[in-house]
Amino acid sequence: MSVEKKDLDWGNLDFSYRKTDYSYVSNYKDGAWDEGCLTADHTIQMSECAGILHYCQEVFEGLKAYTTADGSVVCFRPDMNAQRMADSAARLVMPQFPIERFVDAVKQVVQANLAWVPPHGSGATLYIRPLMFATGDVIGVKPATEYQFRILVTPVGPYFKGGDTAVKLCVSPYDRAAPHGTGNIKAGLNYAMSLKAVTEAHANGYAENLYLDSESRTYVEETGGANVLFVAKDGTLVVPQSHTDSILPSITRRSLVQVAQDLGIAVDERPVEWAEVKSGAFTECGLCGTAAVISPVGEIHEGEDVVVFPAGHETSGPVMAKLRSTLTGIQSGELEDTHGWVCKIC
Ligand SMILES: *Cc1c(COP(=O)(O)O)cnc(C)c1O
Repeated sequence: MSVEKKDLDWGNLDFSYRKTDYSYVSNYKDGAWDEGCLTADHTIQMSECAGILHYCQEVFEGLKAYTTADGSVVCFRPDMNAQRMADSAARLVMPQFPIERFVDAVKQVVQANLAWVPPHGSGATLYIRPLMFATGDVIGVKPATEYQFRILVTPVGPYFKGGDTAVKLCVSPYDRAAPHGTGNIKAGLNYAMSLKAVTEAHANGYAENLYLDSESRTYVEETGGANVLFVAKDGTLVVPQSHTDSILPSITRRSLVQVAQDLGIAVDERPVEWAEVKSGAFTECGLCGTAAVISPVGEIHEGEDVVVFPAGHETSGPVMAKLRSTLTGIQSGELEDTHGWVCKIC
């Protein structure tokens, strides 16, 4: 099926919201989700007493749809996003939106907006943002009884404009997540409290903050919106783990770990001390997430101290480059998808 694409400058889109034709919406009331539907209304009207506005019951997801070389429109592991959103919802005492319905809603809303899916080779994607929030009235502190699940889509360019240019991070003086708190779920509240930290980091010339564990300030956790990966001198992929369950389970990171294993690269998932990073144990560092897959980190600053990653100081080092080209190859249909990760929409 061919649709006439919207008249956009696909190669030069930035990462910002642009209204498309349809969103998907379903409401939860009296203990059940309604059947859900597409809507052309991109606004939400709700009570001034809605739980989201007072006690921040909101969770979200992020994935992308894109066009492969053969012209198919696909997305990547939407079932993983569905499961993570269900886990996030459970942590905030919100109802779970069923996994199969989530995947079906993603397909429906992308299909309804095919004219907005960027063409193959443009570097752009259709960003898919599922979200769920409390619409029911709450004045005393308790979970609401009514919710809305919604999916908006918007065409976006690459998250990092500079392409494969290594970025600088700084070790944040702030904490991202409390031990055994909500750092491992995708909730807007984790981002509200990170805005001051990221604004200051940007003002100081850094792309992002690197957060240490807030219990001991000893271990590396992640950045504000991406998991961190390292490559050791012997080529092992080292993946930071949290003692306190405060790292967000990135789907990109979990996919890259599998890709590394498939490629015969040793993988070591363990707590990583910041002191070990400072000692120069790692030759490459990268940030991973849906938007950028992996972007290289060239330096991490902590006050006057600078940690340099020699094999990836300007652009991606060899291990990160191999991991990225393999994962993007699977995503684009140029490499075999042995794990059944690519989900065809049409
Ligand atoms: C969304 C997110 C990531 C990346 O997860 P992906 O599933 O790979 O997109 C990493 N860290 C945080 C804090 C996030 O919110």
